[in-house]
Amino acid sequence: MSDKGKIIDEIAGKIKSGEIQPWKTESVLLEEYNIEFPEHFRLGTLSRRKNIEELTGYKFNYIELPEKPYLMQWRCPKDNSIWHLEARDMDTTCTFCGSTLGPHGTGEERYLPLVNNYIGGKEEYYSYAGQIKVFGDVDKTFTNILAYGPGFGSIGISVGCFRVNKLGGAEVKVARWAGAARNLGYVFESDEEREKAVVVAKEFLPALRKEMEEKYLTEFSGEIYEIEFVRRQHHSQYFLYICFYSRFEHARGHGDTSSAVGFARGRMDTIFNEKGVKYIQSIIAMGFDGDLKPSPRNRRGRYVSAQVRVPISDYEKMSKTSIDSLFSYMEIDRQGVIQEQGGFLYSGMGGEIIPALYRGTKVNPRPYNVSCTENVYVEIKGDDVIFGVELPNLEVGAASSREGLICPTAREVLKFMGIGTSKEFAAAAAAITLAGEFNFTLLHLRGEMYASK
Ligand SMILES: [Zn+2]
Repeated sequence: MSDKGKIIDEIAGKIKSGEIQPWKTESVLLEEYNIEFPEHFRLGTLSRRKNIEELTGYKFNYIELPEKPYLMQWRCPKDNSIWHLEARDMDTTCTFCGSTLGPHGTGEERYLPLVNNYIGGKEEYYSYAGQIKVFGDVDKTFTNILAYGPGFGSIGISVGCFRVNKLGGAEVKVARWAGAARNLGYVFESDEEREKAVVVAKEFLPALRKEMEEKYLTEFSGEIYEIEFVRRQHHSQYFLYICFYSRFEHARGHGDTSSAVGFARGRMDTIFNEKGVKYIQSIIAMGFDGDLKPSPRNRRGRYVSAQVRVPISDYEKMSKTSIDSLFSYMEIDRQGVIQEQGGFLYSGMGGEIIPALYRGTKVNPRPYNVSCTENVYVEIKGDDVIFGVELPNLEVGAASSREGLICPTAREVLKFMGIGTSKEFAAAAAAITLAGEFNFTLLHLRGEMYASK
């Protein structure tokens, strides 16, 4: 074995025994093994890979290690903007002004790691974030391989995992079913015609539901568990929502549910035509089922705002009242919604932690805010404090399916992590989130978070 091979084996062994923290590997290689710069980035990465292979018993096949696994710093001579580019990146043009970038920093200062605890990957930069032990509905130790975007790091998760493991691991509860919803909308000319439709639809539904399940859902242990009828009106148009709620044991289910409801629409249209029910329009009516909107039905969505500007005096003239009245009007409505109607509010940093798992494993190609809602909670039980996180709507299907291909790199991540099922994915997501929150809370309480020196 080459000298470098021996060094990698030795460092991997020391990471495994806890003698070297995974994020200290590069500095140990420089200081104790006299490895030249920037070769230590490659050897550090190889040592962490070796450690993961030994911990899991699997070999790296698809997660690539680039020849130069580090970034280089560049500077624009015109606007002084500083650029971090992967070493293989040949495009050294400033995106702002089009100037050719020059080197930033001299010698070793120019080089930085791609991400902390880097272990490979070209399209995503994968980090090793330690192991976490869970028990309860899932008994397992997950070996965390995460892909972070800007704003978060693997070290916080690693430290949190270390702390949680030391306290005995994380107890997890995972629901058996994952829900999905899709809504079918009909528009009628009159109330009477709509009522005729409701009667016909309710007669036909038991047979239709069975067809939908057999054709689209049973493959993933899915079923339609509820169908809701809601009547709404817009001036002279009479709406009927027929919302199908499905649930799945092994899949995310939204794509399959949508296909099933699309099929139901065709069958329902035919039945209405046969029975002489006259509708103006039939449509897959999103919104009611919450698709990509922040709805309590499936909680999807993103924030966007729009505003109009009016001088106060003009507004007072326009509304024939004082501006104070506008404010108290708004507040009485706001308090009514918040205090009387309830609502759903989320806490914690799940929106930053959970995407690292989604990005790494590619099991959910949808926007992260669809599935990254979280609540952090603390409770006192006897002499103990319970610190927990709950993810009320985690969407996941670990099978590579029609819902979105999972590439071999991501399947390799799932294998290394120890995730074979949707239930295990959910357990891992909650455990990693707990580790992150637990550590960050401590840092905040100690005044060590965002503390400028
Ligand atoms: Zn520039």
